[in-house]
Amino acid sequence: MSSPTSRTPVPCSSGWRGVFSLVQFATRHDVPRQAARFAANKWPVARLAVRRGGQCICPIRDCIEPHLTLRPPLLITRARDAEPLWRDYGWGIALVTHHYNVLRLPAAYGAHVHQVLGTACPTAICRATREWRFFVAPGELQYAEAAAVGGDLTAGPSAWVPAPGTEGEDVDVYRWLVPPHLTGWRPSKDTNAIRAVLRTTDWNAADAPSRGWPEILARVLR
Ligand SMILES: [Zn+2]
Repeated sequence: MSSPTSRTPVPCSSGWRGVFSLVQFATRHDVPRQAARFAANKWPVARLAVRRGGQCICPIRDCIEPHLTLRPPLLITRARDAEPLWRDYGWGIALVTHHYNVLRLPAAYGAHVHQVLGTACPTAICRATREWRFFVAPGELQYAEAAAVGGDLTAGPSAWVPAPGTEGEDVDVYRWLVPPHLTGWRPSKDTNAIRAVLRTTDWNAADAPSRGWPEILARVLR
């Protein structure tokens, strides 16, 4: 059962500009401090190499995809270890899915889920694709449930996602809409609410989200 507060709806935003203005974005200068803050709150992190200025920031330079550095330690779990490790190369932050899963949903489904979960679930959105990421308790949702609506699930102790705010040439830039400190660094356990949206959204209803399937898929595939 979910707690009453976890179902508190959030008023619909006045627009994407309004949504983004709610979030204080980290500058690259803040990244070491951000990494330490994740680690201090038991969100393990790893150093992420991305392409900037036409080449990867790691010493190899010609990598195509964002990747974790192979330099030990791979996984950083203590704040005091994080800050010095992030001083070199301008690493981005990878959030390693040890203690949560990351549910990615297309625009309309994500908007619906967010209306239900409100500020009870760490949530990020991508300005370019309008996709959403929800940080949920591990094992609560299955990959097939996400895939059935055009989303996916990142799960497991060796999986990771770029931390919202990570900028790079091949990175979908997500921004926090509900930063994890607002939930006490706890992922959402309200699986029933999420599942209800995924299974019962009626796109023909009068109050259905404005974007139908064809446009959603076009955005995802573009
Ligand atoms: Zn590289």
